[in-house]
Amino acid sequence: SQPTKISLQIHPYGKKRKLMITRDVTAVQLAEAMRRDFVANVSHEIRTPLTVLSGFVETMQSIPLEEADRTRYLDLMSQQAHRMQTLVSDLLTLSRLEGSPAPGPGEWIGADELLRHVLSEARGLTQAIAATPHDIDPVSGPDLWISGARTELLSAMSNLMSNAVRYTPGGGRIRSGWRLRPDGWVEFFVSDTGPGIAAEHIPRLTERFYRVDRSRSRETGGTGLGLAIVKHVAQRHGGHIEVKSTLGEGSTFAIALPPSRVRERVSD
Ligand code: ADP
Repeated sequence: SQPTKISLQIHPYGKKRKLMITRDVTAVQLAEAMRRDFVANVSHEIRTPLTVLSGFVETMQSIPLEEADRTRYLDLMSQQAHRMQTLVSDLLTLSRLEGSPAPGPGEWIGADELLRHVLSEARGLTQAIAATPHDIDPVSGPDLWISGARTELLSAMSNLMSNAVRYTPGGGRIRSGWRLRPDGWVEFFVSDTGPGIAAEHIPRLTERFYRVDRSRSRETGGTGLGLAIVKHVAQRHGGHIEVKSTLGEGSTFAIALPPSRVRERVSD
């Protein structure tokens, strides 16, 4: 690892001297700090819904409730339980992605089939959460086969799509498709007319639990792990995630995959 040099300028009696403190920040120390951060974050994320849940349990135990209130409390409790389930499921997904070898060439999957799947999920989601549903449509592209792990690819694509639905106000436009680049890479993209993301946040979006809009994330059931999952899946397939965004106009997220992962479908 690179030693970190911190240099302090001191000026005793007006004379300029330099004091060098050299500290060795080893990879092990960094990994340890990251692990501690992660555990603290997970604990915090679990504690919040647990506190709400146990608060409701105590209330229900201590005072008799009207039927309507009882139902409302139970709904709220079930939401919190659901939130913890989603968090645990995302954590397990991440740990599986980190702990297993990268998928080999895998199977060849029709790009349009993957797209149809995530579009139909997104339409279901907008019906469920938006007062005015979003306008969601595919952008037509070349007929392609993609090679990789189907479940992983679908989970990464769904994450991008559900973010577009969750962060774009109802009625907004969402477009998604596959595109072949001149350099032979292929990309799956999702563009939205949502709030956009300020440039300073973009490099940090794939950090676990990093959220730009914390309350919107929570309201719509976000765990803060979605883009970390997308990044892992892309990297395991030899690719990466790309983000272009303009505040007030919208964002485009893409998963770019290398030429070895794509084949043009030749019709006979
Ligand atoms: P979350 O579960 O909070 O959505 P993600 O890792 O999927 O976690 O995303 C991280 C953060 O990036 C989100 O909390 C949100 O602030 C921001 N974000 C992601 N996608 C979009 C989007 N399409 N438009 C605006 N902000 C987004």
